[in-house]
Order: sequence, then C-alpha cells, then structure tokens
Amino acid sequence: MNSYRERTNNGYQVYISKQKGMDSMKIIDTHCDALLKLQLAKRGLPYGKLPLSFQHAAELETNLARLQQGSYMAQFFAIFIEPDVPSDEKWQHALEQIDMFHTEILDKHPEMKHMKSWEDFDRLQPGEIGAVLALEGADAFGNDFVKLRQLYREGILYMGMSWNNANLCADGAGEPRGGGLTELGKEVVNMNNANQVYTDVSHSTVKGFWDILELSDYPFASHANARAICDHPRNLYDEQIKAMFAKNGLIHLVYNPPFIKKGQRPSNDR
Ligand SMILES: [Zn+2]
Repeated sequence: MNSYRERTNNGYQVYISKQKGMDSMKIIDTHCDALLKLQLAKRGLPYGKLPLSFQHAAELETNLARLQQGSYMAQFFAIFIEPDVPSDEKWQHALEQIDMFHTEILDKHPEMKHMKSWEDFDRLQPGEIGAVLALEGADAFGNDFVKLRQLYREGILYMGMSWNNANLCADGAGEPRGGGLTELGKEVVNMNNANQVYTDVSHSTVKGFWDILELSDYPFASHANARAICDHPRNLYDEQIKAMFAKNGLIHLVYNPPFIKKGQRPSNDR
C-alpha cells in the first residue's frame, strides 16, 4: 500500500491511496447512515427487521460487498440520533448504534478493521477495510462530558457539532436564527483538538462554520459540496472552502443529487 499523505502541523491528513501495481484509487468514504438503519431495523422500525446483513443488505446503502466492489480503503460510520428522539433517550440510541457497529459490522466481518486513531490508516493490511466511528450531532451526549469521553474512547475520529437542528453546543444549518457555537460548543471543539478529533462543519450554520474554523485545529467537512456549483444550505461558499484549505482542513464531497444540482430529489437526506 502506498499512502499519499502529508504530515502537517495539525497532524495526519489522509488524502488518497493507491495500491502498488493497480490503477484504481482507494476510496475513503467519510459518511454513511448504516448504523442508524441497523438500529431502526433492530427496533422493528423502517428498513425492515433484522437480520439486515452488513454483508449485502441493499437497504443499508453501504455494505461490505459494495465496499469491496468499490475498492474502499475505509468507511466512516456516523452515530446519528433522529431529532424527534426525546432528550433523555438520546444516549441510549447512541449506545445502540455503537453496539450495532461492534456486533453487526466488526464481529461478523473480519475484513472490517476498527480504526481508532489516524495512525491506524498505516496499519491496514491488503484485503482489510478500515471502519471508523464518527458522531453527527452533539445531541447524543448533551452536556455530559463523561459520555463525551466515552465516545472518544470508542474511537470517534470526527464530530459534527449539530445536525440541521439546534442543540446545546450549536445551531444547525436548518435553524432559522443561524447562531454559531455556544460556550459549551467552544469547550467541546477544544476537547476535540486535545483528542485529535476533527470537528465537522457539514451541518453548521455560516456563523457556526466560522466559529469552528477559528477554534478547530482539525476542521473537516465530511459531506458538503460547493455552493458556487449548487446553492444548497449545507454546501460551502468559496471563501469558506479557501479558509478550510488555509487551515489544512479536509472536504469530502457528497454524491447525493440535491447537493450537486438544484431541484434534484434526494436519495437520502441525512
Ligand atoms: Zn448529514
């Protein structure tokens, strides 16, 4: 494996990698909703009932067969709590999704290697695909740092401060008042820095984006495109993109139709 990477002041940034003797690029997909779907299926809600196999279930959109077919290097799995889940049940939902990550993805598929640090990208062997946890929205831990530290220990490597709605840390891209980070949110970004966890701006308001960019040592957009090409509220303005690159931030693009061309119907709108 020949990894193209740069060691920057801010730590590792993995760009692309290319297996020796092969023309195809390896892909790192920084967002999918398979954990939510596995959890809902287990609860008997949409996406059918278990067994919903990560091996090949099309309902998951991301599955092992597709990752192998696409020659993936790594797949990030977002822990995402739906906004209508009552506040005091959110942590239980997060735990259930982490449990799905272990029992349905890692334990049943030895090809999937749990990666808990950026250095783990170096240790992947041929035939292995990295599996990485991420958090989409600080709702999961509320203002409880015991829970937040548990998430770090589980190996989340990026954290979105919000989904589209507001929480204790930040307003989300769908929140009309358009606020940025709260004091708690700023404290959490500093904790992300201390733990080498990227802070994701994909669902941030414009103000939230600039708040994060100022504070974060590791700014990241796990699923957002360019507004100059498609004026979607979750896409980034040119000034934002330039500012991200000036701080060695990473931007991973979305192939979901509404983020590419105005008026397109979503295939999935998480
Ligand atoms: Zn999202």
